[in-house]
Amino acid sequence: MPINHSIIEKIETTCTMHQARWVAVTKMRSLETLQALYQTGKRQFGENKAQELCDKYVALPKDIEWHFIGHLQTNKVKSIIDKVSFIHSVDSRKLLDTIQREAKAVSKNISIFIQIHIAEEETKYGFSLEEVIDFFSKFKKEDFPNIHIVGLMAMASLTDNQAQIKNEFLSVKKLKDTINTQFQLELKEISMGMSGDYEIALECGATYIRIGSILFE
Ligand SMILES: *Cc1c(COP(=O)(O)O)cnc(C)c1O
Repeated sequence: MPINHSIIEKIETTCTMHQARWVAVTKMRSLETLQALYQTGKRQFGENKAQELCDKYVALPKDIEWHFIGHLQTNKVKSIIDKVSFIHSVDSRKLLDTIQREAKAVSKNISIFIQIHIAEEETKYGFSLEEVIDFFSKFKKEDFPNIHIVGLMAMASLTDNQAQIKNEFLSVKKLKDTINTQFQLELKEISMGMSGDYEIALECGATYIRIGSILFE
């Protein structure tokens, strides 16, 4: 599938302006498409299925930084742990425990985001605002020596209502600040914003955006 180079340029410029980074979401795209993206210099790729990520990992250059961005079942952690640099979608304590165990087994340190449920749709995953406070109140860093929690991840509601999207994104920024103050943490990153809402996300403090569909023509 052809790549939209002018969109990539625009995303690069916008990210630089906001000191943010972007992940090219390559789920369901062919190896040829990923190779074409690689040729543009892109090295941060995001996938949401363990098997698909493993297949692409094997076939593509090893200097790609893989980001896992979808709901991750605990029984799939082992298959991806040695391949990914970031897991954006940690949505339960049980998943975090499994990631710690599997990361330790391969002597690897991994960066993760805690996924927050902010959208109105029930189908989306993540901790509710109350759950995440409860999670951090019980969190002990020494129990997770192989994990670096870098920040929060969220997806806005599927809506055209820009004000609602903005409010949802702002609530994530506020939550991150609250967590840092309340639990003396230094979460720095916020992974939010996709093709349709990345500009709003960056205005609201996103440091990683995850862009798929608009990259392709
Ligand atoms: C597919 C996906 C994206 C990218 O969405 P686009 O609208 O195609 O940019 C971002 N984040 C997650 C978690 C996704 O599953």
